[in-house]
Amino acid sequence: MEGRLPAFASLIQRGVSAPLQTVSNASPIIWTSVATGVRPRKHGIRGFTVAGRNVNATMRRRPAFWNVLTHYGRSVGVLGWWVSYPAEQVEGYLVSPYMVFFGPRKPERVQVTWEAGDPRRAYPPELLAELGESVYVAADAKPEELGAIYGGADRSSQTPWVWARDRSYYEMALQLMETRPVETVAVYLQGIDVVSHDLSYFAYGRNVNRARKPRVSPEEFEAGLARVEAMYERIDELLAGLLAQTPADADVIVVSDHGWEYDGTNHLNRNPGVFLASGPSFRESGRFEDVSVLDVTPTLLALLGVPLSRDFDGLPSEAALRPGLAAAARWVDAYPLPSVGLTSGVDGTSPDDEQLMDRLRALGYVE
Ligand SMILES: [Zn+2]
Repeated sequence: MEGRLPAFASLIQRGVSAPLQTVSNASPIIWTSVATGVRPRKHGIRGFTVAGRNVNATMRRRPAFWNVLTHYGRSVGVLGWWVSYPAEQVEGYLVSPYMVFFGPRKPERVQVTWEAGDPRRAYPPELLAELGESVYVAADAKPEELGAIYGGADRSSQTPWVWARDRSYYEMALQLMETRPVETVAVYLQGIDVVSHDLSYFAYGRNVNRARKPRVSPEEFEAGLARVEAMYERIDELLAGLLAQTPADADVIVVSDHGWEYDGTNHLNRNPGVFLASGPSFRESGRFEDVSVLDVTPTLLALLGVPLSRDFDGLPSEAALRPGLAAAARWVDAYPLPSVGLTSGVDGTSPDDEQLMDRLRALGYVE
């Protein structure tokens, strides 16, 4: 992929990078650990479902960074983060992963279904109307528009909706950076994970935990890998667009929740992900080891000068942060925030739960 990902490359050149240790192989669990700085047994999100119901934000037992920043009066915007529905009240905005859905699966019939008007999809709820323009109209994307990321309905059925999804959260992020400026913006993009799962399913079949031979020809496998690489390039373009809208002296952190093996094992072996950081709060260059998804929120809060909790299982990254910054962090025993669901009393179920579950099944995430 040499030279094909200029935005990722520029972050690596200007800042620090490391393999990122992870705590699970399931996205809701990991992204909740990223957001809370604690292990799954503390934050309570242990899978995609609990008793057959999708996990949701009312089940989270530790504050996420957006709750902590809000508590300390610091503004924050969050878009598309796993397990952030129903949208919590924050100092800024939160656009939940239930803001936009695209279905059904056939690209020529992809439709936007967000108009249904559940106010819990975003905070403040007026965003439901305000962001309508930014929902990617090419949700009804034609295969030719999807270009190299699309391999035909039979072998990359997930590509159209995930691209429409990512484009929508990207457009919403750009709009909100303009209309509702906040100090910290966090955006979750899903395309790389989904096309990787797509290839894996196509080439190997079900998730297993050992390497195996592809059941498709080498040519078909190569074509599948080319689609994954094309998705990396398109996500790089979105990253470039977000960076272009970001002040030059901003701190930037890019993380994945896990890595990937294209040998048929998916990421069931908890493959390390990536951690990239650059900006005035970070060291100017270098590759290092030893950072975990648990360290992301402590690192973010340390560079913002917000108190850290002794309850964290992670630490602000000494290797990533400018010398002295981690040591200067203030600590509190625990955040004076409710330990169960900041949205407690709010119904966490959604009419779209079944649609989300359908996606998860189609991806092979859940049986
Ligand atoms: Zn995955």
